[in-house]
Amino acid sequence: MKNLIVANWKMNPSTQAEAKEIFDTIRDGAKGLKSEVVICPPYVCLYASSFGKGVVSMGAQNVHFEEKGAFTGEISTAMLKDLGVEYVIIGHSERRKYFGETNEAVNKKIKASLKAGLKIIFCIGETEEERNAGKKSEVLEGQIKNGLAGVGIAQAKSLENINIAYEPVWAIGTGNNCSVEETKESLDFIRKFINPDMRILYGGSVKSDNSADYIKQAGANGLLVGGASLKPEEFIKIIKSAE
Ligand code: PEP
Repeated sequence: MKNLIVANWKMNPSTQAEAKEIFDTIRDGAKGLKSEVVICPPYVCLYASSFGKGVVSMGAQNVHFEEKGAFTGEISTAMLKDLGVEYVIIGHSERRKYFGETNEAVNKKIKASLKAGLKIIFCIGETEEERNAGKKSEVLEGQIKNGLAGVGIAQAKSLENINIAYEPVWAIGTGNNCSVEETKESLDFIRKFINPDMRILYGGSVKSDNSADYIKQAGANGLLVGGASLKPEEFIKIIKSAE
């Protein structure tokens, strides 16, 4: 199983020129490395899929669950496929928090994406309040069971089509990354509910000085990287640390 290293650029950078520069630097730096690398830029930069040259794949940060129609501002799975997009992040905590995305909506998006042949990066994770209240396990179990409800493995062409990203919400964008011990415990817990061959990534304030620990000590099969993925040299170091 190859490690999967995913860049989530969120709503950055502001210009196409900057995006191309970051994209090209990452692609050139990732040449010849063993991990699978996916860049998830804003929708308007997804045209760059043809620039990946088989070194990096493109992913979207979101998708709508309906196939087409009167859904102003939304993007469909067919539109992503037509652009050559391979992956889609679903259920990121920022979408759950700022855009009211529920487990039910996440489930519909996962089903629609698998049907269209997209590969999923399905994000789960507890908030600080939930962690402090001792509800982490309950939250993770609920997110997995509801998010994957009715998703037969047959619906995915292979297990590679579903990847879980464990992202403790309190660790995202805070510099307060989850300890290796706690991450391992959470990944082991998550593995009880999924097929053992599915990849589980860790995300939350990953940097080049902590990235290897999640792969080599906590047992993650990859990383979901936000802020540090916009600094191409730093992101290349992170990819290399997973080799
Ligand atoms: C993310 O956006 O999924 C993320 C993990 O962000 P950061 O690496 O900045 O914490």
